[in-house]
Amino acid sequence: MITAMKAAVLCAFWLASNVAVAEPGQVPSAADGGAPESRAQAAKEWNRLRTPAPGPSRAIGGFSAGCLQGAATLPPSGPGYEVAHLERNRRYGHPELVAYVQRLGAAARRSKLGPVVVGDLAQPRGGPTPTGHHSHQTGLDVDLGYAPPPGLRAGHVTAKQRETLAPVVVVNLKTRQPTAAWDKKVIELLALAASDPAVDRIFVNPTVKKLLCEAPRSAKMTWQSRVRPWWAHHDHFHVRLRCPTDSPLCVSQDPVPDDGCGASLRWWFTTDAEATLTKKKQAEAEAAAVAAAAGEEKVKLPAECAPVRMAPEADAG
Ligand SMILES: [Zn+2]
Repeated sequence: MITAMKAAVLCAFWLASNVAVAEPGQVPSAADGGAPESRAQAAKEWNRLRTPAPGPSRAIGGFSAGCLQGAATLPPSGPGYEVAHLERNRRYGHPELVAYVQRLGAAARRSKLGPVVVGDLAQPRGGPTPTGHHSHQTGLDVDLGYAPPPGLRAGHVTAKQRETLAPVVVVNLKTRQPTAAWDKKVIELLALAASDPAVDRIFVNPTVKKLLCEAPRSAKMTWQSRVRPWWAHHDHFHVRLRCPTDSPLCVSQDPVPDDGCGASLRWWFTTDAEATLTKKKQAEAEAAAVAAAAGEEKVKLPAECAPVRMAPEADAG
């Protein structure tokens, strides 16, 4: 198993509501032979690719420095789910991720919790993206809505609606209190999402995690430990799957250490956490400004991603 390292990565479901804060992920530490290249240039190249790379399905590298071969495509609409923002072209994933979303949609529909709104999966061949995310590179991450926007009807979503779907905010980031949109259905959906054995962990706003820890029934459930507090994530949750068995070069994350309800959760509500967030935002803004000025932010993907990127596009017809 390749050793995992922590790296700061961004997550955004809907760009308009993006709060640019870091999210835990990994980069591969294995020698990759490839030279580092400009992040902006690499993202442009990966974003330009319109079709999955041929070959067996493989998640390659880490969530924040990797790629995807043999991606499956999530249809825009299916039982219990609807994909938002097709123009972003990020509805590709390892077949296990696509199957997971379809499984969750079907389960949500049976429990009358849908439709589940689906944000970004990965680009057709994964890799770095020009906007929004630093993770989602290996086709194992997906952003999902906590609740369907009012009036959204499964199977009756127009193309325009799909591009303008507004996320349902369940936590007020200023007051750190749940909004009126919070109800027990959100907990039911998270329980379904986190109970699936394919899931490694799910990132939610710390207030969401706190509400789960306080809910009498969910507090003691085993799926609870997979739900982890993280910055933002007030209008979507982020599901990360385990490395699939067909992907030996996939870099897994360290196992979760506990149920996440104790001292580590309390930290998120301290002034130290607030100060950390302020510092984090400043550091990110400064790093982005420096990188933009010098064009020097570098990325280095595993060598096995080179043929994935270079494979010819499939015929459109
Ligand atoms: Zn995400």
